[in-house]
Amino acid sequence: MNEANNWVEKSKKHLWLPFTQMKDYEENPLIIAEGEGVYLTDVHGKKYLDGYSSLWLNVHGHRKREIDEAIIEQLQKISHSTLLGATNIPATELAEKLVEITPENLTRVFYSDSGAEAVEIALKLAFQYWRNLGHSSKQKFVTTKNGYHGDTVGAISVGAVDIFHTVYHPLMFDSYKVSFPNAYRNEHSDLEDVKNECLLEIEQLFAEKHEEIAAFIIEGMIQGAGGMNVMPDGYLKGIEQLCKKYNILLIVDEVATGFGRTGKMFSVEHENVQPDLMTIAKGITGGYLPIAATMTSEKVYEAFYGDYTELKTFFHGHSYTGNQLGCAAALANLELYKKEDIINTVQNKADFIAEKLQSLQELEHVGDIRQLGLMVGVELVKDKETKEPFPWGDRVGYYATLKMRDLGMLSRPLGDVVVFMPPLATTFEELEQMITIMKQAIKETT
Ligand code: PLP
Repeated sequence: MNEANNWVEKSKKHLWLPFTQMKDYEENPLIIAEGEGVYLTDVHGKKYLDGYSSLWLNVHGHRKREIDEAIIEQLQKISHSTLLGATNIPATELAEKLVEITPENLTRVFYSDSGAEAVEIALKLAFQYWRNLGHSSKQKFVTTKNGYHGDTVGAISVGAVDIFHTVYHPLMFDSYKVSFPNAYRNEHSDLEDVKNECLLEIEQLFAEKHEEIAAFIIEGMIQGAGGMNVMPDGYLKGIEQLCKKYNILLIVDEVATGFGRTGKMFSVEHENVQPDLMTIAKGITGGYLPIAATMTSEKVYEAFYGDYTELKTFFHGHSYTGNQLGCAAALANLELYKKEDIINTVQNKADFIAEKLQSLQELEHVGDIRQLGLMVGVELVKDKETKEPFPWGDRVGYYATLKMRDLGMLSRPLGDVVVFMPPLATTFEELEQMITIMKQAIKETT
């Protein structure tokens, strides 16, 4: 057996992969050995374009010299020391930088190691915030139908993607799930009407229940894992205003949308929204190491501040929080945003792909193309006219992405939605190549 096949056999024997039916993996194993720029290479030497930014997080491509060097330099000082009751230099410097680039009202950084943890922390902070202020009736959360905030128990309790979450219902705490203004599937022809109806539903809920609601949690400007559903203009702003009016905290989850993905550093900038808490992860280290953070306003921070005996302390922490290597990578990553003017280039690239994606409309089974910045979802339907989906179990999204793999590009579907989320630094030429592959794969498999 050659070395590559040996790795494949070992992977089948011992691994259990996230979000993966291992029966599928056994039929189509994939082991990445190397990466360079927007290319990944598997153990057999086959090269793939990284069409999903290695799960929505890679920014500058793989093996970016400046980030590699920053990690090596940090390695020569120290890799990790705890953040419990102490800090370190890169974590402190990064906190200052994060406060600089996030909305003005966010002044505090609570680190963790993944998006889901950042969400758990936001939920616990919001919950305890009201307790610390003596409003212990405010315990509930509001979220949008089809929202996604990660896979830990708190995060799934405010998630609402049926296929991921239904099985865990007995394990979850209850949250209110309000309708989402879906531009493709809704009962009105005018999206403005849909939006207003959704905001009205929220207002009615808030009016009746505000004394028991701690916070509203929502993704930033686009539902990602729920199918790449872009929010209509004014919707997030409307939610912010309602939260203020009814004294409810607003948590915006920017785990997927942060760090330029939507064409602004953070998607809340599109509507000038200032959340009370904001979760960030994924692109924070350019896709290198697991750092995440929950940003909060000074108002939230102050509710936890006092003598130890007052029991206002936030008793939460993870062993690797504030890891020096991760923070050093994040600092180098943020420098590159400035040096390479990443945010402006994303906007140009978004316009470019919007135009190129138009050619997919001619395919028989492309029902809808949704895009915000470099976040794209192509929904495949059985019938374009009626929007009838393919029968459950046909797995057209899965087979389309498998075909893409054959053709030299990696992505993961969300049901029948083919996801296209390239690294922000992907060149125009590479973007065009990726769209050509996506089109061919959809054509051949539907
Ligand atoms: N929140 C949002 C909006 C996400 O899209 C994700 C992951 O895709 C998460 C939270 C969870 O992040 P992580 O996978 O780092 O736990």
